Order: sequence, then structure tokens, then C-alpha cells
Amino acid sequence: MEFSVLADAFNKMESTRKRLELTQYLVELFEKTPQEVISKIVYLLQGKLRPDFEGIELGVAEKLAIRAISKSSGIPIKKIEEEYRKGGDMGHAATIILEQKTQTTFLVEDITVERVYETLFKIAKLEGNRSQDMKMKYISSLLNDASPLEASFILKILLGTLRLGIAENTVMDALAIAFSGNKENRKVLEHAYNVSSDLGKVAEILANDGLEGVEKFKIILFNPIRPMLADRVKSEQEAIEKMGEEFAAEYKLDGERVQLHIEGDKVVLFSRSLENISSYYPDIIEKIPKAIQAENIILEAEAVAVNENTGEFLPFQELMHRRRKYKIEKAVTQYPITVNLFDILYCNGKSCLELDYKERREKMEKVVKEDEFVKHIPMAIVKNENDIEDFFENSINAGSEGLMLKMLDKPYQAGSRGSHWLKLKREYQNELGDSLDLVVIGGFFGKGRRTGSYGTLLLATYEEDEDTFTSICKVGTGFSDEDLDQLYQILSPKVTIKKNPRIDSEMEADVWFEPELVIEVVASEITLSPIHKAARDKVRKGAGLALRFPKFTGKMRVEKMAEDASTNEEIITLYQGQKKVAHDKSLM
Ligand code: ATP
Repeated sequence: MEFSVLADAFNKMESTRKRLELTQYLVELFEKTPQEVISKIVYLLQGKLRPDFEGIELGVAEKLAIRAISKSSGIPIKKIEEEYRKGGDMGHAATIILEQKTQTTFLVEDITVERVYETLFKIAKLEGNRSQDMKMKYISSLLNDASPLEASFILKILLGTLRLGIAENTVMDALAIAFSGNKENRKVLEHAYNVSSDLGKVAEILANDGLEGVEKFKIILFNPIRPMLADRVKSEQEAIEKMGEEFAAEYKLDGERVQLHIEGDKVVLFSRSLENISSYYPDIIEKIPKAIQAENIILEAEAVAVNENTGEFLPFQELMHRRRKYKIEKAVTQYPITVNLFDILYCNGKSCLELDYKERREKMEKVVKEDEFVKHIPMAIVKNENDIEDFFENSINAGSEGLMLKMLDKPYQAGSRGSHWLKLKREYQNELGDSLDLVVIGGFFGKGRRTGSYGTLLLATYEEDEDTFTSICKVGTGFSDEDLDQLYQILSPKVTIKKNPRIDSEMEADVWFEPELVIEVVASEITLSPIHKAARDKVRKGAGLALRFPKFTGKMRVEKMAEDASTNEEIITLYQGQKKVAHDKSLM
């Protein structure tokens, strides 16, 4: 398939944010796509080469891309850098530069999607000393044969800046229309996607075997299942209204969510955002097989740092010490954990998703033996406010965050957030009722004790409709010296030459970061703001929303992707809830 077909489609899609138009462009593209390339097209549309859980990263830096453009165009690096600074978009800069070049080129060979994909794949796999030179060779060979428009999209994919704003649901709508003539069939695709986390594979099966093929789709051991998520409630009473007469309450432990795939001695661990995190937990890999009495199994657990002497659960931050590439063995002994199981998704070759909560819990208790390291998360069946309060007390005393409440007769709904699971957290000293997860977009250098670190950070919410990160506050409190050090280590490699185009902020930060790191903050209030861009014009024309007295809670949410951060929609709901409380109080 010619790459120009894909580049034209990308170009059209970039010019709209309207879902219906995007869907239409996708349908047209899928109709032109041969079966054998459909999975590649689906990955490339999302700016990837393979599903996230395979961890294949292109990792090409701006500087290298500039060198490659220079090599294939003969235009000096300085000139390319200038062009790039003007617009802040490498793809666009490349188009302008290469347009000058193609005027002198006589023959441009067509390039195919297959060739681009395979070359990108080779680039992603390169490692070691000579890899930079090899990467540059591959990139410039593609750029040599590409038209300016094609080159622009190749570079965007390479640098991870392709932003078509296409949600997975839109891709599934378009696949359903293109291959079955009916958008309603998205549901079938959704189920397959939720259990495989691999949209490319779902598309391939749909193209080859039709909807029936997708209907037969089964869980694949070692491919992660998209997690079921919970709604939040503010009180025991609200929980009872939503859950009915009798339901399960489990400790809500403050650790890292881990999905464990196990067969014999082979163990693979996935995070909440479906990254492979096996390397951080060699202790789980070693110890868990002994506890399993099944041929194969998929479990969900919270890995929690513990005080070995007292057995007490320690806060999430302790687990941060494990997020390292080297000397992990030392971190394992210094920061011991336990694995606290709360669900079973698959056992002995069969899905358990359709079983109701009670059956799943029983099965899990039957096939996994508890020991010092592996535990079933504490659970009680509760019927009224008193029961919940008692169990809540116990859970807080044990060092947990609150409770997860789960309906007894409901299946596991992979990939969805709903009211079958509710979370009831200990109130923070935070009038908003809940903490927010915000993306770090900018930094300000510290003074005095904080010299050499970013003393203040600029934070953003996620704007789903635009696929952008909108500034909401600056935060400079709540940081310990250790936090500041750690933040500097994590953030300094994320500094960019230009502000990333997905960042929407009028502030002048000392440095801009790639919008990647998510941190947790609490605040006293949400207010209207003339400067900040969160929910701009949505509550009042000309105003955005901002946080008053924000404070870092000490939690870096490394398991979350920037797109999992608090959204403007959530902020608006909190803002409206807060106004309602103020109104109710004024009536009292
Ligand atoms: P989300 O609801 O999007 O996951 P979040 O990451 O902010 O948001 P929390 O408010 O912390 O989530 O609540 C859900 C998380 O709680 C789960 O992802 C899981 O890591 C953790 N957790 C702790 N104990 C349990 C439990 N017993 N059952 C399910 N999840 C639990």
C-alpha cells in the first residue's frame, strides 16, 4: 500500500477535530487498506508500532531528526533549527525544507506503508553505541524517497508528535462501519479490545475473519486485559444508595495495581496503564508461582510496601524506589512488599470475567494459597452504614486509604468505569473531597534551599475534546527535599526546546516539559481564572478554572499516563459541586 494514501488521510484528519468527519476519513482509509496491512495502519494511526504493552518505543530525539533532515536535503542544521523554532513542529519544518529540496530532485521513488513501518521498527529495535548513526541512516533513507508531506508524517511518528486526536472508540466505530457496514457492531470489537489491549490485532481478525472471528476472540495469556475502574462516592450513605442491600467491602490499599499473568514459572506483570513492569518486581516473579494451584492464571493485585517487622502497610511513595533500571535487587530488600490479590480474570485456560464477584472471589481463594508474601485482600460483606464504618476504621488503622465497594452479583467489566465498583477514600485535608492527578507541563527554578531544582511546577488538566493539556495552577508547596531531588531527576530529561503544541498555557515557565509526568495534588477550592486555560469558556466566557492553595501530596502517579490525568470535565463537576455546597450552606 502506498504511503501517500496514509499521508493524505493523516493530513485530512489533522485538519478536523469533529468526530463524525474523523470517522468518515477513517472509513475511507480502511476501505483502501489491504488486509495484510490493516494492523499496521491501526498502530500508526495511534502513533505506535505495536500495542503499548510490548514496550516498543521509537525514542528518536529532535536533534537526531534535524541531522537526518540535513543529511537528506543538504541544507545546514542551523537553517533547519531556525525553521523548527519558528513553528515548533518538526513535521512542518521538514515539509518547508524538503519542498526547497524536491525542486532539484528528478526522481522520487514511491514508498509503501510496509517499508515505512519496517524501517521504523528497525529504528525502534536499535540499541548500543552505533545506534545513533544507524538510526540517522535509516531516517534519511526514508526522507530521501518521501514527498514533503510524507516526510512530515514520518517525522511526527518518529518523534511521537503525531496527534490526530482520534480516540480508540472512533477507530472502532470506523472499523465496524468499514468491515460490517454497521456502527452498532463496535460493541463486539470493544469486547475483543478490552480483553486483549491490542486494537491492531482486533482489526486484523475483523478484516480476515469478519465479525464472527472477533466474536470468538478469547483472552490471550500474557496480553494484558484492560482494567475495570471504580466510581467515587463521598459517604457511606451514598454508597448504600448506589449499591443496595448487601455488597462486598475490601481494603483499598495504597500501592501499585499489578495484573499478574502466570503459567508455571513464567510470570509477566502489567501496570494499570498496561506497561510491562516485570523488571521492578523480581520478588513477585520468584515467589508467586509457589502460591498458584492452577496451570495458568491471570490475577489482579495491589503491590504494597510493608514494614517487615510490624506488617503495617506503607504509603505508595515507598514503591517509587523500585522504579529503577539498576540495582533493583538492593531496592527489593530495602523496600519489601506484599502482593494483595483482589481479583481473578482467567484460570486454567478459561475466562473468569463473566463470573460474578462472589464466584470470582471464591475461585481466587481456592486456587491461590496465602503465605507471608501473597495475601487475599481483606474483605467483608457489609449491609449497613455501621458495617461500612467499622470496616473502614479497620482498613485505615492498617494503613490503607479507605474501601473499595463491589457488587456481589456483577461480572468483571474490563476496560470500563462504572458503579459496580465504588471507591470510598479517607477525606483528605482538602475541601474538594478528592485529590487531583495533574500533568507537569512547566517548571520554575528554585531559590535558596531549592537552588538546582524546580521549586515550583506548572500543572495541567487533560482536555479530552482537544487532546491538549490545559494549565490549571502552579504548585510550590508539599515538596520534601527528597521529592525535589527525585522530581529533578525525572523531569530534567523531559525538558523541550519549544513548548509542546499540546500544552495550552499563557504562563511563561522557565522550562517546558514533555507532558508526561502525573502528580497528585490537593487544593482548597476551584476558582475562576483569567489566566489559566482549564475548562476555558466552559463555565464562564473569557475565564478558565484554577486551583486555590494547591499542595503536592507526595505522590507521583508514575503508573498513570498523561491522558489518565484529571479531565476538565471532572474539574467542572467538582467546581459545580462546590458551588452547590456553598449555596446549600447559605440556606442553612
Ligand atoms: P482510577 O479509578 O482511574 O484507577 P486512580 O488511579 O486515581 O483512579 P484510585 O482512586 O486510587 O484510582 O482507585 C482505584 C485504584 O485503587 C485501583 O486502580 C487499584 O490500584 C487500587 N486498589 C486498592 N485496593 C483495591 C481493591 N481492593 N480493589 C480494586 N482496586 C484497588
